[in-house]
Formats: sequence, C-alpha cells, structure tokens
Amino acid sequence: MKKVVKFGGSSLASAEQFKKVGEIIRQDSSRRYVVPSAPGKRFPNDIKVTDMLYDCYETAVSGEEFADKLEKIEERYQEIIDGLKLDFSLEKDFAVISENFKKGAGKDYAASRGEYLNGKVMAAYLGIPFVDAAEVVRFDEDGSFNDAVTDELLAGRLADLERAVIPGFYGAKEDGTVVTFSRGGSDITGSLVALAVHADLYENWTDVSGFLIADPRIVRNSKSIEIITYKELRELSYMGASVLHEDAIFPVRKVGIPINIRNTNAPEDKGTLIVESTCRKSKYTITGIAGTDGFAAITVEKAMMNSEIGFCRKVLQVFEENNVSIEHMPSGIDTMTIFVHKNEFEEKEQKILADITKAVNPDHIELESDLALIAIVGRGMKSTRGTAGRIFSALAHAHINVKMIDQGSSELNIIVGVRHEDFKNAIRALYEIFVLTQL
Ligand code: ADP
Ligand code: ASP
Ligand code: MG
Repeated sequence: MKKVVKFGGSSLASAEQFKKVGEIIRQDSSRRYVVPSAPGKRFPNDIKVTDMLYDCYETAVSGEEFADKLEKIEERYQEIIDGLKLDFSLEKDFAVISENFKKGAGKDYAASRGEYLNGKVMAAYLGIPFVDAAEVVRFDEDGSFNDAVTDELLAGRLADLERAVIPGFYGAKEDGTVVTFSRGGSDITGSLVALAVHADLYENWTDVSGFLIADPRIVRNSKSIEIITYKELRELSYMGASVLHEDAIFPVRKVGIPINIRNTNAPEDKGTLIVESTCRKSKYTITGIAGTDGFAAITVEKAMMNSEIGFCRKVLQVFEENNVSIEHMPSGIDTMTIFVHKNEFEEKEQKILADITKAVNPDHIELESDLALIAIVGRGMKSTRGTAGRIFSALAHAHINVKMIDQGSSELNIIVGVRHEDFKNAIRALYEIFVLTQL
C-alpha cells in the first residue's frame, strides 16, 4: 500500500498543526510521499504566507524597502521551527530569496517560496529527503503545464526514494524559471505525485471533515459527503465548492486513484472518498449543493424567434466576438436568456447590447444583474421523481423567487438562478428539504 498525503495551509500554519501532521504520518507507514502547502491562517484574520510573499515581492519590485516584510515571513517559519525544537535553519535560504527578489525573480518565484521553505521544514521534521518541485514539475516555455514530462521526471526521481517531501503549488520551465499553478494548486501537485508513484490512495488533508453537502460558511454543521464521483465533484467545484482545486481531479482520474479528503483536526473522521463510479447510493437524493454569486442575465425576446434559422448562433456570436464566456443558456419559445459573469460583462455591456440589436433586431432585451446560480448535484436524481418539484416548493416556502431553472441533460444536476440577496437563504432552504427533513 502506497499513499500520497497532501496537507493544506491551515494544517501547517503553526508548530501545533505540524505536530498533528507528524502524528498522522507516523500512524500509517504507507503514507510515504508528503506534499505540503505554505503555512496558512492560524486564526480567521491571519494572513497566509503566500499572500505575504506576493505583497513583499510587490514592494521589492517597486524599489521600496522590503526587508521588514521578508523578516515577518521568516518569523512565521522560525516560530514553527522553534515550536518543533528542530536543529535547523532557513537563514541561508532567506538570504538567497532576498537577493533574488532584488533581481526581480518574478511573482511566481516569490509565491513558490512559501511551499519550498515549508517543504524543507517538513523534511527536517520527518527526517526524510526533500525533492525540489522545480526539478520535477515541468512547465513549457509559454507557461503551460507539461504533464508528460512531469510524469517522467517525477516517476524517475521518486523511484529511488522510499519516502520524500515534495512541496506543492509550483514547478519550473526547463531553464529553471519558477512557475506556479493557480491559487490552491498544491492539490494538483499531490495528484501528480500520486500518479507518478502509482499510489493506491491520494489523501488530501484539510480543515474540514471532507466535502460537505453545503458550504460550511453558509450552512452551519453541514453533514459531509461519504462518497462522491469525480463527475459530481466537478459540477460542485465548478459552482464554487472550493475544497479541492478543480484541476487536481484529472491526473488521478485517468488511472483510477481515489482521493480521500480528510480533516487534520479530526483524523478519526473518515472524510470523503472521491471515486470514478460507485454503486453505493448516497444517503440523500442529492449529493451536494454549491453556488456562485455575481452573474448577470441578458434576455433577448423576439416573436417567432424559434422559426428564425440561425437566431441563437447570431446572438452567441456577439458574446464570442466580445470575448465574454457564457455560463448558462435557458430558452423559451420566443426568448433566450444568457447568463454571464457580471464583472466580465459590465464593461462591455453597451457594446454587446448594440451588437445584439444589429445582429437579430429583437423586440426587447432585458437585463438583470446581481444573480446567483446554485447547482443541486446528485447521481441519485436520475432515479428519483419529483426533485425539481421539491426544489421549487422549498424555495417558494422560503419566499424566494426562482429566476431560472435548468436541468443538465446528464440528469446529474439542476441549476437554479436566484437573486443575490436570496443566495444564502436558498442554499439553506435546499439543504433543509433534501438533508434535514427528508432522506
Ligand atoms: P486547504 O488550505 O487545506 O487546501 P482550502 O481552504 O483550500 O483548504 O479548502 C477547505 C475549505 O473549503 C474549508 O475550510 C471550507 O471553508 C471551504 N469549503 C467551501 N465549500 C465547501 C464544501 N462544500 N465542503 C467543505 N468545505 C468547503
Ligand atoms: N499556498 C498556495 C495558495 O495559497 C497554494 C495552496 O495552498 O494550495 O494558494
Ligand atoms: Mg486548498
């Protein structure tokens, strides 16, 4: 049995958290490859080391004095090193970082130091080898990730190592220029390592007991999902459930390595298992609920629109030409509605409206902003009647006006659009009807 374990920022924010992580790793000898994030928040208003690094580097490139800011970052690590009573120092590393900041080594280089340094601390704490991700995670000249070369480099390097620490979030181009994934990208590194070593399981340790049915910041004490398929997870992640980076799914999915989301602060909890497919039914009709705020809807109305060949294409082309991506598109007989991200649309609004008028000469165009979309996701919905009816009735009871409802053709999800001010209440009402009151 071979496991890759990735620990998120809050799991490594302090010496106390490091000790919990050490305990978890020592408890199971199959936990052989460790992927740490940078130290995250120790308390709600704390600042993640990654954000401190971005800020410090910005100060450096603007030519201002940045030594104080870098020292604050060094203190974060020193606190961990002291708390763990390690005979180990990052002094030389900080001197190198300071020099590189002066030379303008780049924003990605700066951010990556969070994981790099934490990886070194972790390796010293566990007494196992450190592998710099810059040597084994490869990006191409244009900055895009190269999965084939990465797999080769990682597999080659780790073949000789029984155990290792590989910091998350970054890699490098062939010439050594450091490149990071997008925020939360240590999840991706964990997945790449799992693929390269043919792990049996990829454990992703965070600060919640798995993927919860609803965002814990909206529904307090939300229950967690025991088992979820990659497809369901993707629908939820896309709609804003941000426990796991979206791109972390692809490498392990290819070879069928399950991901287990676990809680560093409650290691006895089983967490959530993410798998390709399962015949295990979820406890409830739905698997999860997720939503995102900040959409605008453009409704184009024209009598006999449905018989006008090419109508939809012409409207969609306007969005394409203005480089605005479309999120959803419910339609009626004489209307079509287009959901877009409000911030992408706003600055181009008048141009798009003028272009639509020119393209299809509609009877009426209506705009609505401040909308939220909520996805109700579940493999069980296919075989259950009345799910849409229950959604409507739950929202009606909560006095929420449904602006749109759209069922994906896979019958894996139903998406509803509501006003921004109803967003959180809608999620609570849906949680209540599907999880609390009915199984
Ligand atoms: P890490 O630093 O360990 O990578 P993240 O902050 O990236 O952790 O992800 C965990 C957080 O995701 C939780 O603390 C929680 O606030 C948030 N979250 C959002 N939606 C959900 C959900 N459906 N289930 C669990 N956590 C969620
Ligand atoms: N430290 C990085 C971030 O804050 C990457 C990660 O935590 O996964 O985004
Ligand atoms: Mg994360």
